[in-house]
Amino acid sequence: MLKVKNLWHSYNNDKNYAVQDISFEVEEGEILGFLGPSGAGKSTTQNILIGLLKLQEGEVSIRGKSMKNPKDELFNIIGVSFEQPNVYKKLSGFENLNFYRKMFSTQTEEPMKLLREVGLGDVADKKASEYSKGMLQRLVFVRSMINKPQMWFLDEPTSGLDPITAGKIKDIIKRKNKEGTTIFLTTHNMHIADELCNRVAFINEGKIKLIDSPRNLKLKYGEKFVKVEYKENGQLISERLSLVEDRDKIKLNKLISQGEIETMHSQEATFEEIFINVTGRGLN
Ligand code: ADP
Repeated sequence: MLKVKNLWHSYNNDKNYAVQDISFEVEEGEILGFLGPSGAGKSTTQNILIGLLKLQEGEVSIRGKSMKNPKDELFNIIGVSFEQPNVYKKLSGFENLNFYRKMFSTQTEEPMKLLREVGLGDVADKKASEYSKGMLQRLVFVRSMINKPQMWFLDEPTSGLDPITAGKIKDIIKRKNKEGTTIFLTTHNMHIADELCNRVAFINEGKIKLIDSPRNLKLKYGEKFVKVEYKENGQLISERLSLVEDRDKIKLNKLISQGEIETMHSQEATFEEIFINVTGRGLN
């Protein structure tokens, strides 16, 4: 669906690259996550892929059509949700969607249906200038769905939203994906990447460091742990023991043979830990 080959980008046309030699593909029906800290190059990549930033070097194609000089029809199948809400503040939520809808020469969704879906039905006629930050974010999110996109770009779709609203947004993303929408999702939130993505690319300093399924990333790069609770001198002690480190393995064997363990749970590595292992820095 989306093919990216040897992508480079420099904002000042110098050797200071925000994106360096990035290559990847997103298969039809897949959710690919771009996970990395602020400044890693996620938005730059997304902006090149959607034609907002000029393609300086490399190749990008969507459904076999190059983004070098994209034809208008190509935008009929693309949906884009930005992290920074860029809506017309003087128009209401409904008017914003209705205006945007007219830009497409393809079947579109009913604005009211979309607004209701993210809890904005009651404020549909209010000016966007009166919307809170979270409401604006939901408006941008549903706006990106108006043309029933086959290739959907989502930049930090849940950042700054309360858990209930974030849950609603995640459910919509999952549903749309089940219905066949291919998704490119950029985030610095490891939980979102883990929960939603079929594959995750770790991006740092403009480069892709790893790309694989969440399960494989954890199996290959994460250290395995068990969390044990045991009694010692009448006190309950909770400890995280590595299944790789010899010292921890010996201790675990001892606890098991002495029958002192009260509870034991295996713990998989988090993306944050793997990211630190691979890049030497965290996600924030
Ligand atoms: P992310 O989306 O992962 O936070 P960005 O793609 O926004 O990262 O930024 C990547 C790098 O490009 C950063 O070093 C950032 O400072 C730089 N950058 C982003 N936008 C611009 C711009 N408009 N002009 C110059 N440099 C920029």
